[in-house]
Amino acid sequence: MTGELPYLDLRTHLQRRFGRRVQKIALDAGFTCPNRDGTLGVGGCLYCNARGSGTGAFRRGLSLTAQLEAAAAGLTRRYGPCAFIAYFQGFTNTYGPVERLRALYEEALAFPGVVGLSVGTRPDCVPDEVLELLAGYARTRLVWLELGLQSAHDATLQRLNRGHDVACFTEAVHRAAARGLEVVAHVILGLPGEGREEMLATARYLGGLPLQGVKPHLLYVVQGSGLAGLYAAGEYQPLTEEEFVTLTVDFLEHLPPHLVIHRLTGDPHPQELVAPRWCLNKNRMLARLRQEFAQRGSRQGSRWPNPAAENALAPLRSLAPPPAGGKAAPQDAGS
Ligand code: SF4
Repeated sequence: MTGELPYLDLRTHLQRRFGRRVQKIALDAGFTCPNRDGTLGVGGCLYCNARGSGTGAFRRGLSLTAQLEAAAAGLTRRYGPCAFIAYFQGFTNTYGPVERLRALYEEALAFPGVVGLSVGTRPDCVPDEVLELLAGYARTRLVWLELGLQSAHDATLQRLNRGHDVACFTEAVHRAAARGLEVVAHVILGLPGEGREEMLATARYLGGLPLQGVKPHLLYVVQGSGLAGLYAAGEYQPLTEEEFVTLTVDFLEHLPPHLVIHRLTGDPHPQELVAPRWCLNKNRMLARLRQEFAQRGSRQGSRWPNPAAENALAPLRSLAPPPAGGKAAPQDAGS
């Protein structure tokens, strides 16, 4: 834990691990997603649009090496000499023949200064042969497998049209961890039908898994997503900034202190963002989070129970199903 921040942030973790500044470079390798290409569905997840969080660089004809060159030059100008993690971000970055994956990952690993890979994907797209491929790199490099979960509630995952359930995520985490891979869970706060108790149960569930890190962020509405339709119809309201700050601090207090917090803010494209606009001011969000921790006198893990005495799945079983419909449940912003 850093002396300044009340949570274990990624920059501090990387500085300690590598002894120098390490920056992630987001790559677009031209993948698609089974939840969009018809294999599982065509509409995608409720909050996702046709860009799938990708940069669009692949469609503009930029190779991985060209993307790395451009980003590395900019980062070096800004920060001075640093190392890089090649982050396969857009869509589902394990969705393809293993030989294609190998070629892409190894192109990135061969770039000067790249010390590791971070691969974002779905928990139902990590067959053993892909895990073995990544585990091979992990013997000498940093490798993170970033798995999308979003919520530890099956009813929410169905509402989001995720196309997998919580058990699928649990199983994928254990298969990856058994091979020595470091797994990072993606979760979203403010999902339709969820209130504070559902979000805290997700934190407790994550705390019971062999994870390296967590990426929580706010649900925001982007153009072209199913969520944008709900928002336009008045059937979904994003969290207010106040609710986000309170819930995020609650969430981090319920996570174990050893989990690295890879991110606390999303990165919506300003032109695509429908709501809430306040989330574009990341510095203010982070300052408000620190302020809330300071006012409470708490930190990440403050309310994490002794894992040995906790059945992390018990809260999930005891929760009533989230309310039907698309509106976010009222938030308990005061606690
Ligand atoms: S969020 Fe990820 S898994 Fe869902 S549709 Fe978009 S790219 Fe696919």
